[in-house]
Amino acid sequence: MRKIKSQVKAPKTTRATKITFALNADLCQQAENWLNSQWSQYNYTYRSLSELVRKSLTAYQEGEIRVNTTERDKHAPKREITIRFFNTDLLNFYYSLPYSQRTAIIEESLREFLEKLNEKELEKHRKIIKPRPKPKLTPYFNINFTCDNCGDEYVEDVAYSYATSLKEIIEHYTYCSGCVS
Ligand SMILES: [Zn+2]
Repeated sequence: MRKIKSQVKAPKTTRATKITFALNADLCQQAENWLNSQWSQYNYTYRSLSELVRKSLTAYQEGEIRVNTTERDKHAPKREITIRFFNTDLLNFYYSLPYSQRTAIIEESLREFLEKLNEKELEKHRKIIKPRPKPKLTPYFNINFTCDNCGDEYVEDVAYSYATSLKEIIEHYTYCSGCVS
């Protein structure tokens, strides 16, 4: 019998639905600037503007952000952007939005989402520049030491030091109780 070779099938691809929007050109530029600043810091959480748009809409869907479509400037210059929707849930959510509001919601979600990302960024910087807690003097008992302030020598007395453990006491100045009180 002749062996029948099974037909080679083209690999099934999950078709993404593409939707083209005319979005506020300034806003798109802002988003791209933000992406570029992230990439220059080797942060590739968001790889494209369309990913950012999808994430914004997801954030809106999940109630993480609120949008106000009334403040939108409808006459601002536009830029056409094609977004691929891979996630049917998100696509269905998009189709569930009121027809006349869809672009406005996409735009305002992106605006709010960017704002939120920028806030997070500021928060990170705030954490970095937060002053370190002031070192505290700790008393260590039964120490033979010379007070680095008054120069007196002490035998088995209390030494005050910024060292956080006795092991480190040698690396720090030591003070007598008279000098720290
Ligand atoms: Zn002293």
